[in-house]
Amino acid sequence: MGMELKDIVKALREYDGEEVRIMEVCGTHTAAISENGIPSMLSDKIKLISGPGCPVCVTVTAVIDKLIELSMRDDTIVLTFGDLIRVRGSEKSLADAKGDGAHVRMVYSPMETVKMAEEDPSHTYVFAAIGFETTTPVYAMVLEKAIEKGLHNLKLLTSLKTMPQVIRWVVNNGGGIDGFIAPGHVATITGSNEYKELSEELGIPFVVSGFEGPQLLATIYALVSMKGKTGIRNMYKGAVTENGNEKAKEVVNKYFTTSDASWRGMGKIPGSGMVLKDEYREYDAGSLDLDEDHMPPGCCCASVLVGKIKPSQCPLFGKSCTPDNAHGACMVSTEGSCYNFFVSGRK
Ligand code: SF4
Repeated sequence: MGMELKDIVKALREYDGEEVRIMEVCGTHTAAISENGIPSMLSDKIKLISGPGCPVCVTVTAVIDKLIELSMRDDTIVLTFGDLIRVRGSEKSLADAKGDGAHVRMVYSPMETVKMAEEDPSHTYVFAAIGFETTTPVYAMVLEKAIEKGLHNLKLLTSLKTMPQVIRWVVNNGGGIDGFIAPGHVATITGSNEYKELSEELGIPFVVSGFEGPQLLATIYALVSMKGKTGIRNMYKGAVTENGNEKAKEVVNKYFTTSDASWRGMGKIPGSGMVLKDEYREYDAGSLDLDEDHMPPGCCCASVLVGKIKPSQCPLFGKSCTPDNAHGACMVSTEGSCYNFFVSGRK
């Protein structure tokens, strides 16, 4: 756009037009915005709102309860990435269950799961497949490898979600959003065209951004200038193309199909999830119809996730709910809005 960073910073600080509400829908953007101190660099007329982009935060309690149930079986071992282990289901977390003797193991690389299952045929390994379009190809590749090796003791418990449908839900449910920072990592897979169509449908502009402070500032500046218009700009051209990663999309489409999905605090959103295709159902550990969601008492995560309140407006924020003693999912994950507001002192 030809403007220098110092001019963008000045324009954003001095902006005195109509209020502009901008939502980011990627947990990594939430973290980058906080780490770079961006909110304190903006005029009061520019509001940054954190959206439903943290995969662990939008996972309903039924999924965690199911993983706990599986982990209590003698012949089953549940494998999960870090954040999920500390999120409470309707009664306890996987970490609590592990303390009670349940079989829960953390994994650091997805392909470890294949190795574990291969080396121990006497147990069924259930991999908690939680995430958005960015991580779904990874789970598809794990499954491909397991099938290639003839393994029948590695299964997925999926809670996989897709972004466009939840963005539409937020807009149609009173989000009052003037512009979206499109999810950067997700767009590397899906491509920016998906957001071009969504922009036209919703009448709201989208800008695809990377995660560096200067690029985020340029993105916010672009969205302020685009208020009231439709269209998409791609500020992350090094990583995001119009059509995305065809190879990743191909492997996903081989194993998964679109489904409805339940989101924490939002309920069931049609077409917003991915589940294993019928022909691969034997690799599913019971993912269908996991819809129930029990918020911890007093937790306002549901309102935080859709931008209705800021984390600091939750009465428990920073009091009985902190990263060391998280009450709700949004304070557990490093991508969670409450966690990021707390650690960065964002108001
Ligand atoms: Fe829930 Fe804690 Fe966030 Fe409040 S501060 S909404 S209790 S996670």
